[in-house]
Amino acid sequence: MPLDIVTWAESLIAEEHTELTIGHDGRPTRIHGAPDASGQALVTNGAVGADLLRLPGGSGFVPHTHPGHHVLVVVAGIGTITYAGRIHETRAGQVYLVEGAVPHAVGAITDHVILAVGSPHKQIDAEDRMAPVPYEEVISLDGEMTCLLCAVTTTAPERPHSLGCPHCPCPECVGRSPADSSPRSGVLA
Ligand SMILES: [Zn+2]
Ligand SMILES: [Zn+2]
Repeated sequence: MPLDIVTWAESLIAEEHTELTIGHDGRPTRIHGAPDASGQALVTNGAVGADLLRLPGGSGFVPHTHPGHHVLVVVAGIGTITYAGRIHETRAGQVYLVEGAVPHAVGAITDHVILAVGSPHKQIDAEDRMAPVPYEEVISLDGEMTCLLCAVTTTAPERPHSLGCPHCPCPECVGRSPADSSPRSGVLA
């Protein structure tokens, strides 16, 4: 397999630091699981691969699991990761790792671009790239959800949006685009 070197950001390399310019605009490939999510496939050998994912501000992936683990490098904007009953803020320059089997949700506060490294790797537009799970699977074991940005905690069945938290990862808040409600994407229902 030939070596594939992909340029995914503009770089300005000065003597003492390097700046990357990462556009906030949409990317060429539609991604299942979030309204208006798009992406750009970067490199893959099937076992491990990397893609750019872009969410417009206010959008997000509903709680889900996926076949492999992901290392998520936040490269543009501000977002959220909801994991084990806590909504965390993430911003460009941060990185986190999610175990594929642990339900989680990713949201965008501003337009948000993430470089996702996955193993095993699924194509960016694969319908089985993620499996949505009920909101109740991403709350803590004692039924709570805490938004660390808003400093609010709700106990199920109450959800953060009922306290005005705009970072609530529930499917009602994250919403779905018309394309997602087609029978072909029934996995998202
Ligand atoms: Zn909040
Ligand atoms: Zn909600």
